[in-house]
Amino acid sequence: MSGFNFFADEVAYRAQTGRQAAMPGVTGPSFRCGECGRHRATKGRKKTATGWRCAGCHQARECRRAIKEAA
Ligand SMILES: [Zn+2]
Repeated sequence: MSGFNFFADEVAYRAQTGRQAAMPGVTGPSFRCGECGRHRATKGRKKTATGWRCAGCHQARECRRAIKEAA
C-alpha cells in the first residue's frame, strides 16, 4: 500500500506547489532533485558536487547560509 500512499502524497504536493506559484509549462523538462528527491523543473536548478539541486532547495540552502552568516 506504500505505493498508493506515495501517489496520494505526490498529488497533494503538486496541488500545494501549484497553488503557491502558478507554474507555467508543467510539462517542461524535469529532473530528480538530489536533495528533496522530487521531480522538479530543470529551470533554476543548480549543479552541486553530488548532482543537481532544484531551485527550491537551492533557495532554501542560500537562505539558511545567509541566516548562519548573519548570526
Ligand atoms: Zn529539491
